[in-house]
Amino acid sequence: MTASQAILQGLAADGGLFVPTKIPSLDISLETLSGMSYQETAYEVMKLFLTDFTEEELKSCINCAYDKKFDTEVIVPMARVEDAYYLELFHGSTIAFKDMALSILPYLMTTAAKKNQIKNEIVILTATSGDTGKAALAGFADVPGTKIIVFYPKDGVSPVQEKQMVTQKGDNTHVIGIRGNFDDAQNGVKAIFGDEEMKKELLEAGFQFSSANSINIGRLVPQIVYYVYACAKLLESNELQKGDKINVVVPTGNFGNILAAYYAKQMGLPIGKLICASNDNKVLYDFFRTGEYDRNRPFILTTSPSMDILISSNLERLLYRIAGEDAQKDLELMELLKTEGRYEITSEMKKQLADFCGYYASEKEAAAKIAGTYENTGYVMDTHTAVAACAYEKYVKDTQDHTRTVIVSTASPYKFTRSVMEAIDKKQYGGMTDFELIDKLAAISGTEVPGAIEEIRTALVRHKKVCEVNGMKQAVREFLGVE
Ligand SMILES: *Cc1c(COP(=O)(O)O)cnc(C)c1O
Repeated sequence: MTASQAILQGLAADGGLFVPTKIPSLDISLETLSGMSYQETAYEVMKLFLTDFTEEELKSCINCAYDKKFDTEVIVPMARVEDAYYLELFHGSTIAFKDMALSILPYLMTTAAKKNQIKNEIVILTATSGDTGKAALAGFADVPGTKIIVFYPKDGVSPVQEKQMVTQKGDNTHVIGIRGNFDDAQNGVKAIFGDEEMKKELLEAGFQFSSANSINIGRLVPQIVYYVYACAKLLESNELQKGDKINVVVPTGNFGNILAAYYAKQMGLPIGKLICASNDNKVLYDFFRTGEYDRNRPFILTTSPSMDILISSNLERLLYRIAGEDAQKDLELMELLKTEGRYEITSEMKKQLADFCGYYASEKEAAAKIAGTYENTGYVMDTHTAVAACAYEKYVKDTQDHTRTVIVSTASPYKFTRSVMEAIDKKQYGGMTDFELIDKLAAISGTEVPGAIEEIRTALVRHKKVCEVNGMKQAVREFLGVE
């Protein structure tokens, strides 16, 4: 299986996740990397994983992805605030970190299709609870050779999230609200993927389905890049001396972002601790303390919704490595997760987790962190980043480890304005609309409202279709003109 085939296929035939056969070492020094642009760094990292892409192909994907869609030339700026560096991964088209991978995935996929002589049009099907849908739409909009269909729960996303999606431009995009919740949307999409008859029918019409969700290896590899870039830039600005290590703190949900940091460390990047930050859904915090993963617990809705997850899918890839690349052991644990909702790793495996530690923040702690940092420094962070900032504070208090630390900042505060403003002003804003709060945030922080938000204030609604859960297949057929 080549890298391009794995990207096209998404999931292995037995339901498992694709992993690199071995984690390559960085074959270039940090000193050399420190003079490079984000795009150049991306090439040096990604070429080591995507080994069947030519230099020309990969560079073209990178340059199409990391361009003017980002509101800063450096793509991922770092802000020094108090005693940490905030790596801002939210300067892309949907102002959240999923843009880092979803800006390039469409190009990797169409290149992969070409390389594998696939003539069909690629149809991306996605169910979303808000963020992934918009980032995927923005990434695939007007990319030749692709179409994208996004299903979202009509009454289950925030007004800003809905507006972001239904105003999406691009003739190849299609957004449909369903009368049901996120699970209904996801089950509906899975049912379409599993429908052999429909698959055949679509193949005859020149279409094949693919998926843009976070278990695609094509989303993981681009995420390694910004860790390398961050290290190199700290070295360039003399904040880091040759031979020094950095710690990283990652607000975690599906375990994709922090797994990329782990891969970066395995490649030789000088990373010390990987601090995994959770909100009240602290399955991972418990796992790192005890070695037991147990999803049998209530699902808690928090103000950091992109981390409200009880099954962190990408953990499967970490387990594979700490089991000594034992696929059988990995499969056994994943089966237990399916049947019992829990599993325990061996003490041998647990020993391999020494680089990780888990911390979590309650709703109250995260809100206090947003307010406190704003009051002390004027810097405003979003609710997900706040969970990471709390985790960092607890870690330092516990360990007195003052290694330079990069806190991964995964969303713009403008994406979760209501929660951010309520944290700062310590009150509820029931009477104000999201856009009024956005203006208030701009005023108190002295920052500009991002283009991504300004755009939707006045944008035309282009997608008005709503369907029942059992009408999803028909909606796909209609959009593709296969009836
Ligand atoms: C998706 C997301 C996360 C979680 O990232 P994982 O890779 O799933 O761990 C954290 N913060 C924000 C804002 C996100 O959109």
